[in-house]
Amino acid sequence: IEFVRATQLQGDEEPSSIPSLSAQDQQKESIQAVRRSLPVFPFREELLAAIANHQVLIIEGETGSGKTTQIPQYLFEEGYTKKGMKIACTQPRRVAAMSVAARVAREMGVKLGNEVGYSIRFEDCTSERTVLRYMTDGMLLREFLSEPDLASYSVVMVDEAHERTLHTDILFGLIKDVARFRPELKVLVASATLDTARFSTFFDDAPVFRIPGRRFPVDIFYTKAPEADYLEACVVSVLQIHVTQPPGDILVFLTGQEEIEAACEMLQDRCRRLGSKIRELLVLPIYANLPSDMQARIFQPTPPGARKVVVATNIAETSLTIEGIIYVLDPGFCKQKSYNPRTGMESLTVTPCSKASANQRAGRAGRVAAGKCFRLYTAWAYQHELEETTVPEIQRTSLGNVVLLLKSLGIHDLMHFDFLDPPPYETLLLALEQLYALGALNHLGELTTSGRKMAELPVDPMLSKMILASEKYSCSEEILTVAAMLSVNNSIFYRPKDKVVHADNARVNFFLPGGDHLVLLNVYTQWAESGYSSQWCYENFVQFRSMRRARDVREQLEGLLERVEVGLSSCQGDYIRVRKAITAGYFYHTARLTRSGYRTVKQQQTVFVHPNSSLFEQQPRWLLYHELVLTTKEFMRQVLEIESSWLLEVAPHYYKAKELEDPHAKKMPKKIGKTREELG
Ligand code: ADP
Ligand code: MG
Repeated sequence: IEFVRATQLQGDEEPSSIPSLSAQDQQKESIQAVRRSLPVFPFREELLAAIANHQVLIIEGETGSGKTTQIPQYLFEEGYTKKGMKIACTQPRRVAAMSVAARVAREMGVKLGNEVGYSIRFEDCTSERTVLRYMTDGMLLREFLSEPDLASYSVVMVDEAHERTLHTDILFGLIKDVARFRPELKVLVASATLDTARFSTFFDDAPVFRIPGRRFPVDIFYTKAPEADYLEACVVSVLQIHVTQPPGDILVFLTGQEEIEAACEMLQDRCRRLGSKIRELLVLPIYANLPSDMQARIFQPTPPGARKVVVATNIAETSLTIEGIIYVLDPGFCKQKSYNPRTGMESLTVTPCSKASANQRAGRAGRVAAGKCFRLYTAWAYQHELEETTVPEIQRTSLGNVVLLLKSLGIHDLMHFDFLDPPPYETLLLALEQLYALGALNHLGELTTSGRKMAELPVDPMLSKMILASEKYSCSEEILTVAAMLSVNNSIFYRPKDKVVHADNARVNFFLPGGDHLVLLNVYTQWAESGYSSQWCYENFVQFRSMRRARDVREQLEGLLERVEVGLSSCQGDYIRVRKAITAGYFYHTARLTRSGYRTVKQQQTVFVHPNSSLFEQQPRWLLYHELVLTTKEFMRQVLEIESSWLLEVAPHYYKAKELEDPHAKKMPKKIGKTREELG
């Protein structure tokens, strides 16, 4: 692949002033020395004084300057956790919360989960003693339910604020309000060097504290022509860098787990084939669902003579800093949620990243020395095709979850909530409508008893509704399993390249009539019968760690059943009940087979069954889906065959018998008349 050098990202350090501070050297130095070497350290006293003098402080600093790992420690050392008060530091990503907490625990010489811990959905690594709490922004949001004034916290640090996730944005509004009532609460908003003026304005002109970064120049290269297959181009470019460039580790940005695993496999494969012709190349993935021991590996120093390549999602853009990166390879894509409030369809798509993102990525190459960033797109594309910044998530996602939460917090007038950027009016309206349809809100928009229960469960409203409905259909055991399996979604089966046929056979063996939710149930049940065995997983091409996670999630949800007044019961093999309970939650996500394929029932959108689905070849007349994913087409993932009559049974207020009539009934004599269920 041919690259042309085009521009340079200016640094504030001279390229010649490169300190030979390699990762190895750093490891040899004591941890305290490393702490003192971070850009934030010289500002420790000044920063603490600013925090003492202002209730709200915006902190701006280059990625890697020590905001996340150091500032909470400074506050701890300064006594902000006296009298059992806690410090919260929020992260938009689970992996970041875990990894940073682990790092800080090590720096403080304590066991993770004691003084320093993390809390992410379905995983709580904190204890009574935990005073430094790293948590996802979503978890702090849930804290408001049990402690609306955050009374046990002395400091709340909203970190990575520039990411503008939905949860971070909502936190802003809530925290601003709490701060008015609690003058002693300190609020820190930490961000990479983006958007800080906006945060300041939002928080009534709060002062901005700037930590000057340490940044070396980065040469930026573009491809001469667009690359058709960026994954292949990535692999080729990594090897090219490895063979032609001086020492230094490589960071590659891809969009998600599947892609990252594929790239890692391709890289390892080719390295193996090249054998001793090339130097050793360590290939390390990092993405949200990677188990923590694997996550830790990316931080280990590269052995002398070898080179490390870290293949990451945009978690490595600003949340995590890996020492020793000199080369960045940027295909220019990220996975983004988008939402169409007219159709209510949410989809996750691979889209070009923004210029701001591309520049953050490039900046990662200039942390320890002058670096190089190779962009797998043309200079023209950068100029003309990339958006300036990423649209805040609140403007491109469904809001059901958040609206339910805000309603539970007693915030009724959502139109006038203090949003940094307001969501589209239609999105808000649709969220209210959907919550009404699910029975969470009454016609006045007030929270119902059922809505209050739904908010108790840390899952999406439709999933909560499904769990609540399992009471009526006496199948909570099965529904808990389905819910848990759905939340580890898409990482259940694995398919090694050399055993594709075996893996596919193993998967098909789990198929049950009815659809994918029952397949998930079947996998889990058989695994449980095997005594939760890892050997069983291995033999059946099932991912053991996904199953273990499903089991954790299931246990936690089971623990919440009592709170939402659902008793434990089993359907005893009567899967119709399970399917009806699922329909009670997901009646919004339905599609019917028409002469031109599947159309969603209400909006008449064309959709397709995902080729991995157990129903791919069966083409049932009516089905529901768990989610839509837009890749080459709008694919429905995790689909379940349903009867149209069930829709009237579970959501009579939403469906009219007339719209569920089947125009094809007469042309399909076999299926005419009574439904399977009516026939018993
Ligand atoms: P910021 O939040 O300003 O981006 P951080 O506090 O995350 O900066 O990082 C400060 C330094 O700590 C970085 O130089 C990084 O290399 C180091 N660091 C962070 N996490 C780890 C880890 N898990 N292992 C080793 N070093 C780490
Ligand atoms: Mg940080």
